[in-house]
Amino acid sequence: MLPYASISAAEAALGRNLTFAETVWFNYSATKSNYFLYCHNILFLFVIFSIVPLPLVFLELKRLSFLNSYKIQPKVHLSLNEMLRCYKDVLVMFFLVVGPLQLASYPTIQMIGIRMGLPLPSGWEILAQLLVYFLVEDYTNYWIHRFLHNGWGYEKIHRVHHEYAAPIGFAAPYAHWAEILILGIPSFLGPAMVPGHIITFWLWIALRQIEAIDTHSGYDFPWSITKYIPFYGGAEYHDYHHYVGRQSHSNFASVFTYCDYIYGTDKGFRYQKKILPKLKEDSGNGVEQSGGSYKTQQSKSD
Ligand SMILES: [Zn+2]
Ligand SMILES: [Zn+2]
Repeated sequence: MLPYASISAAEAALGRNLTFAETVWFNYSATKSNYFLYCHNILFLFVIFSIVPLPLVFLELKRLSFLNSYKIQPKVHLSLNEMLRCYKDVLVMFFLVVGPLQLASYPTIQMIGIRMGLPLPSGWEILAQLLVYFLVEDYTNYWIHRFLHNGWGYEKIHRVHHEYAAPIGFAAPYAHWAEILILGIPSFLGPAMVPGHIITFWLWIALRQIEAIDTHSGYDFPWSITKYIPFYGGAEYHDYHHYVGRQSHSNFASVFTYCDYIYGTDKGFRYQKKILPKLKEDSGNGVEQSGGSYKTQQSKSD
């Protein structure tokens, strides 16, 4: 809720005219409570994890031959029922854990100083803060994820997320309730360190969710714009982590590749990438290959 009765009152307080974006924000948010604005997050999350994976469901069902070469584990196909079951499980967890967590975390948002008023942040400010959020999340998620691959953590918690050895878009948020709670910490840490506007916070939660769906998509498209993001892991990178499963001591990072490189936990993946062309050569085209994927090992997942 904004402390101004009108746009002219807001302009008088700021000492300048409102920008177009600020006028839109004023018209939308002026009479809405801050709690209600914060709760938009729940709707955005719901829409994103329900809608964004749908093109991937279509691809999985249609099995278009010209796109199949971009599938990372091409011999693994899930039926519509299997994908819907995953979505249903995610939905249950959303209503039982994610939604209530969002509703209950509002005091934290107030405490760390996420603001909802005017002026709006500049595009550069939003970009810089989002970069910090991604870097902080990536680093902390790396260590928590690595810890969850230890015996007890894996057996009791992280095993659920690894049920999909060949991930699909709907499986991005598919996890044990405890993992959802634990991994909420890295998501909040960046905004807590560098608090910004609620619009930046919405964007952060939305982009992180879309990024997770991308890395669980099961497809590695060479034309993806994420190929231009330096050190971005992407679908092939995280798919390998799922493929190896419990024994995976490789590719723990959620977004970028540098943590695994620095701490030496990408050796299996790099060896795979290195050895694959040689295997292909040796087998005289008997090995399927596309987009650098690890398709020689797929029989394990069939
Ligand atoms: Zn894992
Ligand atoms: Zn995953």
